[in-house]
Amino acid sequence: MTRSKDSSTSLRIAIQKSGRLTDKTVDLLHGIGIEFDNYKRNLMVKTRNFDIELLLLRDDDIPEYVQDGVCDLGFVGANEVYEKNANVTVLRGLNYGRCRLAIAAPKNGSIKQPEDFNGKTIATSYPFLTEKFFSEKGIDVNLVEISGAVEITPQLEVADAISDLVSTGGTLRANGLQELFTILESETKLIQTNLELSPGKQELVDKFLVRIDGYQQAKRSRYIMMNAPKDSIESIREIIPSMKSPTIVPLAETDMVAIHTVIPIDRFWIVMEELKSAGASDIVMLPIESMIL
Ligand code: ATP
Ligand code: ZN
Repeated sequence: MTRSKDSSTSLRIAIQKSGRLTDKTVDLLHGIGIEFDNYKRNLMVKTRNFDIELLLLRDDDIPEYVQDGVCDLGFVGANEVYEKNANVTVLRGLNYGRCRLAIAAPKNGSIKQPEDFNGKTIATSYPFLTEKFFSEKGIDVNLVEISGAVEITPQLEVADAISDLVSTGGTLRANGLQELFTILESETKLIQTNLELSPGKQELVDKFLVRIDGYQQAKRSRYIMMNAPKDSIESIREIIPSMKSPTIVPLAETDMVAIHTVIPIDRFWIVMEELKSAGASDIVMLPIESMIL
């Protein structure tokens, strides 16, 4: 399946057909202005306003499709990228689909430390990463590769412990398992093939990245507007960690101004309280669709 030369003209992007990553990836693509529909029924979808085709695949297959150049880009969990040991470039981390690959063992059992795993059997869908984790510690384990419902294998006496993806840990607890160590912290990644792209496609990838960065920055920011007495402008400017100077507009009420600016979301509540104490009122916060800096 290896393609040495870039033959197709459209930029091909792989996304998960149906699963935990699908909705957020589709939202992101729509959010950066890429228009398409019918992705639920088709394996390949042409976008309406760009020379981009989407390929809808099982997430496990995405790293290899991108590695082999069947797709130029892909959206897939770091867990799959590193498990498949794919020869691809990770372009961006996307802050969704967060989970971790963790080792868990029966809560009331005798396995607690890495050394306790010597000679034990571990069930997993991630044999490569699990084997690597233990062999780096010089511990010998037997692996049983299982594609689903890994968490019930200790009860069935198929394995002594498991290595599986966890987000809240609820499934582990429900199966009497205790999480012991993390092998990998994972999030969705945007990956690119290491095969050379045509100049036209590479240009499209660069444009795509500018939009993704703008979209991500917008998600982390809020637009705020407030009214304030003119004589509090200086103290308000000191509070606002603005990217650039805030916009200050005089109001009909002569001693008042409106101040507009963008702030990072993680500082929002602290900034709000400080602004209020400095004399600001009618503070309004709005989400931002996208921003190009
Ligand atoms: P497919 O049919 O595409 O192979 P799947 O059943 O393997 O789907 P999903 O359960 O949809 O996959 O998970 C897709 C990705 O979502 C995982 O590979 C991982 O990156 C991420 N993810 C986030 N949280 C979790 C979680 N708690 N359990 C499993 N995957 C998670
Ligand atoms: Zn899968």
